[in-house]
This record gives sequence, C-alpha cells and structure tokens, in this order.
Amino acid sequence: MTSSALTPDDDPRPHATDSVLSVTVRVPAKVNLALSVGPLRPDGYHGLATVFHAVGLFDEVTAAESDTLSLTCEGEGATEVPLDATNLAWRAAALLAETTGRRPGARLHLAKGIPVAGGMAGGSADAAGALVACDALWGTGLSRDELHALAARLGSDVPFALYGGTAMGTGRGEQIAPVLARGEFHWIFAFAHDGLSTPAVFRELDRLRDAAGEQTPAPGVDEELLRALRAGDSRLLGAALRNDLTRPATSLRPDLRATLRTGRDAGAVGTLLSGSGPTCAFLAADVVSATAIAAALEAAPSVRAVRRALGPAAGAHVL
Ligand code: C5P
Repeated sequence: MTSSALTPDDDPRPHATDSVLSVTVRVPAKVNLALSVGPLRPDGYHGLATVFHAVGLFDEVTAAESDTLSLTCEGEGATEVPLDATNLAWRAAALLAETTGRRPGARLHLAKGIPVAGGMAGGSADAAGALVACDALWGTGLSRDELHALAARLGSDVPFALYGGTAMGTGRGEQIAPVLARGEFHWIFAFAHDGLSTPAVFRELDRLRDAAGEQTPAPGVDEELLRALRAGDSRLLGAALRNDLTRPATSLRPDLRATLRTGRDAGAVGTLLSGSGPTCAFLAADVVSATAIAAALEAAPSVRAVRRALGPAAGAHVL
C-alpha cells in the first residue's frame, strides 16, 4: 500500500489536528484467567503464574505536542484519577523522556472506560498507552523490547497491556509469553461501588496464609485452563478459572460474594474476581446468556455498573 492510499483513519502515523500534532492510543483492560500467587519475595512482590486476557474495555491515551508535561482525564471514575506526577501515565512519559534524553513535553489526556482501582489494570493500561503515544509523538522509535523494559519498571501489569491477547505472565507478572487461544469469549463485568487497594489485597492473602499456617506452593497454571483456551471452549474455560486473590479480596469486602453468586445463579459458566478486585468477571456460554447475566447483575445492590466485552482484545495501538 502506498501512503497516498491511506485514509486518515488507518494511517498509523501521528496526524495534525488544528496544527497541533497529537497521537491517540487505545489500550485494553485485562482479567487474569488464572492468578496463582507464590510466597512474598524479599523485594516486597509475590512470584506469580498468571494467564492475562485482554478484554474489550478500553482507555484512550492522547499525547499532544507541548513544552511541558500535563495531564487531564475524563470518563469512568475520572474524579478519582490523580492528575500529577503520581499518575502512572505521567511517570511513563517522564521515564521515556529521561531514557531517551529529551525534555518531557506532552499534553496527556486520558479517556477512561476501564474502572479505577478495579483490578482490571486501568492505571497500567494508561502507562502503556502513554509510552506508545509519546514514543510516536516524539519519534523516539524504541523497539518492542525496549518499551517492554520501560513498562516493567513502571508496574507488573504494564508490559501485558502493550501486547494484549492472551498471555502467560511469570516473575511478578512482567515476564510475558504468548498462550495459544482460539475463538472469542463473552464477558460481563460488574463494577463495585468502591475501589480496592492491590497491596492491601496481597497483604491480606499473606495474613490469611500465616494465620492458617499454610505452606505456599510454587505458583503454577493448571493444564485444563490452557487446554480450554486452545479448544476455545467457554464451558471448559469457565470451570478452570482460578484466582488466589479471591479469598483475601472477599475477606476485605464480603459484599463481593453476593455479586459473584448473582452472576453464577444467572447462568455464568465461569465466575472470577478480576485481578485484585473488586470488579467481578463472568463468562457466558453465548450472547443470549450474556444478556441474562448482565440483567441480573444490573439489579444487584452490590453492583455499581455492568459492562459487556469480548476477549481477547488487541494490546496498545495507535488509532
Ligand atoms: O507492580 P505494581 O506497582 O502494579 O504492584 C502494586 C503492588 O501490588 C505492589 O506494591 C505489591 O504490594 C503488590 N504486588 C505483589 N506481587 C506482584 C504484583 C503486585 O505483591 N506480583
């Protein structure tokens, strides 16, 4: 294809709007189809074996030319998003500038569709989006591996947001390997009224394990889950979903049990806490069943909002 054949919509290069150069990147949310958590490491993280799955709930990160770094936000949970250097998207832009030896000039804007502090890696998605957007805006031209290394410094879930799809995560979640997956899955997500802190959920897991005197096995992913993904079979996948953070999250927030029960009773073939919660994820056998599950969740008092999405979804990409 020659460049003259590109329309503005499919031209992957930054484009000029009102003479200001700007780049918009779309980044997906994730659920962990399996989240097996090992013992606490000396560095304060837990070794994990996880299967990340990107789903069609998106944030859009726009980076526009500017002399200084600034951040604005709109959409889902926008009032709870910090707009300063504590925001992971801001830190991503600053890290990219520092690494490539340039001044961190960009006007960043987040249009959020992923819940804030919801266990769907929205902040990590914004960081991945800011890396890709600023890389394109500034023409730094980093390789995928270089972007991955910066992403891993920003947070455990940031590298996966670059890739999307379905992938195995090891280490603290930052080491990514592809997983064979076939077909599309119908998901329903129930957002909770309040967020949940990821460190608090991991701490509660350690507390519960200590109290029970449990030996924590090395983290691992069950073969049935990988088989279900290879087969593209939602019933098999639903039966194989696992998340070690369910127990600590429901210990901190007992109302989540009612949300999980509501989706299960409405016919979900799989129910799952998303990451460290409090978002709950439900797998439907088909689109008709997805409608019934969504309707039941809409009526649940423990649920703030319901969204439907297909998975897997593509990773961070320039629009
Ligand atoms: O890597 P990230 O900054 O997203 O992690 C947030 C917090 O979640 C960490 O500070 C840690 O408390 C907890 N965490 C963990 N083990 C992991 C990932 C995160 O304990 N593998």
